[in-house]
Amino acid sequence: MTTPQELAERRAEEAARIRRSLDASHEAREKGIKGGEDTVAFVHENLCIGCDQCMIVCDDDAIELYDKPLASPIMDIEVNKKAKILRDPCTGCRLCVLACPTDAIVMLDR
Ligand code: SF4
Ligand code: SF4
Repeated sequence: MTTPQELAERRAEEAARIRRSLDASHEAREKGIKGGEDTVAFVHENLCIGCDQCMIVCDDDAIELYDKPLASPIMDIEVNKKAKILRDPCTGCRLCVLACPTDAIVMLDR
């Protein structure tokens, strides 16, 4: 059975793998996305699928998931997660934008 320690190590390894992959493959795209301390990330809630990828790559603990009830009562899913950016700790590094599989995150001027 997997221990919490093993899970934490696996999660850290996965974060490192994602970071390396992002660094290698998104240089060109990164140049086209504004960033830096005068910017802050923003999540378009309707595009977010709550996949957790942005939280894994964010070094600054600037992203949280929250519960969002589904709009349709006929969908029987207990928990529907969405991501939100915490403005103060966000450094504008853009990693979450590059990691998001649904292009739900954009960078805004502060
Ligand atoms: S821009 Fe960087 S610091 Fe801000 S939420 Fe995204 S990954 Fe975290
Ligand atoms: S990576 Fe994108 S889709 Fe996944 S939780 Fe973050 S904002 Fe939502």
